[in-house]
Amino acid sequence: MNVLVINCGSSSLKYQLISSETEKVLAKGLCERIGIDGSAITHQPEGGEKVTTQVPMPDHTAAVKYVIEKLTDPEVGVVKSLDEIDAVGHRIVHGGEKFNTSVVINDEVIKAIEECNDLAPLHNPANLIGINACKKLMPNVPMVAVFDTAFHQTMPKKAFLYGLPYEYYEKYKVRRYGFHGTSHDFVSARAAEILGKKREDLKIIVCHLGNGASVTAVDHGRSIDTSMGLTPLEGLIMGTRSGDIDPAIISFIADKENISADDMINICNKKSGVLGLSGGISSDFRDLASAAESNDQKAIDALDTYAYRVAKYIGSYAMAMKGVDVIAFTAGIGENNCQMRAAICDYVTWLGTSIDPEKNAIRGEEVILSKPDDKVAIMVVPTNEELAIARETVRLVK
Ligand code: ADP
Repeated sequence: MNVLVINCGSSSLKYQLISSETEKVLAKGLCERIGIDGSAITHQPEGGEKVTTQVPMPDHTAAVKYVIEKLTDPEVGVVKSLDEIDAVGHRIVHGGEKFNTSVVINDEVIKAIEECNDLAPLHNPANLIGINACKKLMPNVPMVAVFDTAFHQTMPKKAFLYGLPYEYYEKYKVRRYGFHGTSHDFVSARAAEILGKKREDLKIIVCHLGNGASVTAVDHGRSIDTSMGLTPLEGLIMGTRSGDIDPAIISFIADKENISADDMINICNKKSGVLGLSGGISSDFRDLASAAESNDQKAIDALDTYAYRVAKYIGSYAMAMKGVDVIAFTAGIGENNCQMRAAICDYVTWLGTSIDPEKNAIRGEEVILSKPDDKVAIMVVPTNEELAIARETVRLVK
């Protein structure tokens, strides 16, 4: 089967066409500036060059039309016609409490996703636009929704409730949902596989450290706690997001700076994290590493603060699961940033485990960093959310 995986944002659309038999990416690409002047599609067939073409894309339907055009193009295409696209898998950010697994999309599902818009006003409406655009252009192709929140629906109440008046949970469903679920599921499953063990027998902490970042406690195969909350703002310090702060800071600074609470949340989302902490140097850890090498104190502090927060979450999840067998690093920073992995693992040595510096110098590959008889296995497991979505799509469509 060929599965088209779609990740639709408000003005962008990322796609991959994956063959389920070989699990290879046949082609991938990105539509940018949808609905804005200067829109363009960047397409790359397997083993071929990346080519960007400026095309008018007034809406997402136009974008999906260009995606199909590229995929079936005689030169840069990888299939002869639309008939060779067997299913579409959509990444959906928020499934609320309605979805604890992926589902085949029908009108009822679309309605239920719409009902979660409130919880992810920037993401879910865009995801739905992607679904509707595909429905229009490929009415007979089955589609599946894969939710970022679904894997975390196994969290117990004590992990998902906030210490707020209970009526807010009842009235507005204010609770911890967690995100990056597809990645935490994929990485924890793969980590067990690499170790030759069953995930159901392990206590795994997955650190997904990308621009957005979260840590999850996967206890015997089930997510029992995760660092992101009602929204992806909670938890770790991220590229531009603050992660955990004292909620009173919002009104305190809003008053001082004469801005609204919404402005302040926007600052917490877009101008905080290591970008804010470093005094605006960058949200990218490569830039921060160079600045730290030149002894920029703010960059050094930003990286220290980041590592400390990740270590604190690892510690609290080891307690939540009453133990830990595996710590797995993934995503851009987790897979590639050896210094950050070393800084975080320095806090973990008391658990009776340490990493081999030579193995830790490897980037972007599956590798076990700890020694074979260490109490806790520390490893790098590259994530692949698109492949996970394609697998889910095949599982449901077959
Ligand atoms: P996103 O959440 O947007 O998918 P990524 O998972 O790509 O983000 O993570 C982005 C972060 O990963 C950046 O801070 C970047 O510095 C880091 N990163 C990505 N690739 C590398 C690399 N080869 N070496 C070091 N750091 C990297």
